[in-house]
Amino acid sequence: MARKPLMAGNWKMNLNHVEAVGLLQKLTWTLEDKKHDPDKSEVVVLPPFTDLRTVQTLVDGDRLEIGYGAQDVSAFDNGAYTGDISADMLVKLGCRYVVVGHSERRRFHGEDDNIVNAKTLKAVSRGMVPIVCVGERLAVREQFRHVPDTLHHVEGALVGLTSDQVANMVIAYEPVWAIGTGRVATPEDAQEVCTAIRGWIRERHGGEVSDRIRILYGGSVNARNVAALMAQSDIDGCLVGAASLKVDEFSAIARFYEMPVI
Ligand code: PEP
Repeated sequence: MARKPLMAGNWKMNLNHVEAVGLLQKLTWTLEDKKHDPDKSEVVVLPPFTDLRTVQTLVDGDRLEIGYGAQDVSAFDNGAYTGDISADMLVKLGCRYVVVGHSERRRFHGEDDNIVNAKTLKAVSRGMVPIVCVGERLAVREQFRHVPDTLHHVEGALVGLTSDQVANMVIAYEPVWAIGTGRVATPEDAQEVCTAIRGWIRERHGGEVSDRIRILYGGSVNARNVAALMAQSDIDGCLVGAASLKVDEFSAIARFYEMPVI
């Protein structure tokens, strides 16, 4: 079954709502100018919470062919959770996607697999598509434990999800040592882990689900390395950090299908 490639730009804590308008408009013009084919890749931006209302207004008002979502969601419905944002609030803002368990949330906010699982369940219960981030630290890779370590994260994140929910979610394999370092995984290394994730899904949820779920690679993706990554059979797209803040770069990543594999 053909899985539509997904290119998701994680803006992290960058761009205020005014700057978001500028980037989105320029991204739209560039994609149009370069004749991006939306059937060949789905383009999504993941701005900070404070930009979401503005992004919603722009995407809806101008009928942009760009999806959007949030970078985190609370595991709770409402109440005394200062600073948190609920799934219902994100749904009201039109968010289709939400990142869960990014390594920066795990590192700076102490999120473990239980919290990631609770957030994933909350997102799917509200009809959003979670982009669940998994991936090993450098020390784990150096001990060649990257596959079991990553599968352990996958198992923890997916507790209690139905096969149908799993089929519609997104998993992003993001080795921690590759995020923001300029040290991209080789296509073969990324494929090894993405294949293992798909195999794990197949064992637990069957071939139809493992054929449908989209598995992304993330970590120092740019316009030069994206085509080789996307040539791998189990990589269905990329979660892009720094390069998603540069319009020409992100637009080239979205058009990976035009690039030579080098
Ligand atoms: C990320 O933030 O998920 C990420 C992959 O960042 P970068 O592309 O900058 O490595």
